[in-house]
Amino acid sequence: MQLTDLTIHALHDKLIKRELSSMDLTEAFLARIEASNPQINAFITVCPEQARKAAAEADKLLAKECGERKFGLLTGIPLALKDIFVTEGVRTTCASKMLDNFIPPYDGTAVRKLKESGAVILGKLNMDEFAMGSSNENSAFGPVRNPWNLDCVPGGSSGGSAAAVAALQTVAALGTDTGGSIRQPASHCGVVGLKPTYGRVSRYGVIAYASSLDQVGPVTRDVEDAAILLGAVAGYDNADSTSVNASVPDYRKNLKKGVKGLRIGLPKEYFIDGLDAEVKQSIEAAIQTYRELGAEIVDVSLPHTPYAVACYYLIATAEASSNLARYDGVRYGKRVDDGKGLIDMYMQSRAAGFGDEVKRRIMLGTYALSSGYYDAYYLKAQKVRTLIRQDFLEAFTGVDVLLTPVAPTAAFKLSEKAEDPLQMYLSDIFTIPVNLAGTCAMSLPCGHSGAGLPIGLQLVGKPFGEETILQAAYAFEQATDWHKKAPSI
Ligand code: GLN
Repeated sequence: MQLTDLTIHALHDKLIKRELSSMDLTEAFLARIEASNPQINAFITVCPEQARKAAAEADKLLAKECGERKFGLLTGIPLALKDIFVTEGVRTTCASKMLDNFIPPYDGTAVRKLKESGAVILGKLNMDEFAMGSSNENSAFGPVRNPWNLDCVPGGSSGGSAAAVAALQTVAALGTDTGGSIRQPASHCGVVGLKPTYGRVSRYGVIAYASSLDQVGPVTRDVEDAAILLGAVAGYDNADSTSVNASVPDYRKNLKKGVKGLRIGLPKEYFIDGLDAEVKQSIEAAIQTYRELGAEIVDVSLPHTPYAVACYYLIATAEASSNLARYDGVRYGKRVDDGKGLIDMYMQSRAAGFGDEVKRRIMLGTYALSSGYYDAYYLKAQKVRTLIRQDFLEAFTGVDVLLTPVAPTAAFKLSEKAEDPLQMYLSDIFTIPVNLAGTCAMSLPCGHSGAGLPIGLQLVGKPFGEETILQAAYAFEQATDWHKKAPSI
């Protein structure tokens, strides 16, 4: 077992026993990044100097106060951030040419909390431009490759986060999930990903894509680490008016509670024809494991599921077109100015700064919001969204969690879907409804395809039911060892 293989909780034990220093650990990860990043391309920016400085500080604290106080679990632990989190003094690109030299003057709330808990930030992770995509091919910094098979995509948009955790380049990472961007890449890379309930984690300092759907969450090697990292970033923040003022439980406390008597619902709309046979098999095996662990399996229905993808692509693009209006070449970001006037400068800057998928979405969203179409598209989509949310709330009157596949297939080949946006959009068919409903869900490894690619299982919880899905995930993890498998890169 190497240092870079370990989890947050295992490393924490070693750090407090002084078997290891944060500096050793940080150096081990920096070396690992240097060796494997040329192949994987998970990092856009590596911050060795800042990381060493934070590691030295953590070591000082550990040396001075060891034995006297209980250390935060993240003290001295190396982590990495999707490049959508603004970081003081560290370039934040959102994988776009638009922001390729943007150096933010402040840390977002989640980042600040991690730093305050003593974490060491290794760098910024690749992603689909402005978090739009499901394969990480929409990055201005080149695609990320799946550590399990370099010809395959890692999923997206937090592809760099999932690939870096799987390739042992960082202990864990933060990602964001608007329609599946934490869960789908976690599934494709064989790691754990959790999308918290909307409002659970502050979005302050997270570059906005679709503000009513965006949520921050952890990508980790195991369920316990997801509980730790979620606990570190969750909570009310008066800088984000949509963050919810509800107390944050100790997510680790009841992890081992087990699933005896837990009612798990299987939504029939998620077990459809397009579902790959190997994915189906893995999910069925997982259901059997839960049965054996004493859970009660119940059939449920989420009848509005077929409308979710269409509804999402109206709401997400509408919000994106509005959020991305700020990149006009004036205050920050790329500016192309031929001296032909203000309007020309706007147009040239946006034409040069945004990639094709981002432009496609801005156009779709602008159209959906334009007068005459608003009622037919945007307003209708909002109504459908309410129906989708009601489906979930209704299902949760009879069950504690829902169990579904994360994605219809395992990771696909690079460029396989790049020319077909609709096929790409359908990758998120099982994750999107959760964002529309605003509730929480996680992805955890539950199998491998014949080609040796990871397959993930999705557990969906009630609003603010993160504790319950973590418990259910933990029980599954203890009963299986899919999470222990690592790619041979
Ligand atoms: N793949 C979806 C999209 O392109 C979801 C992305 C996300 O969750 N950020 O919008």
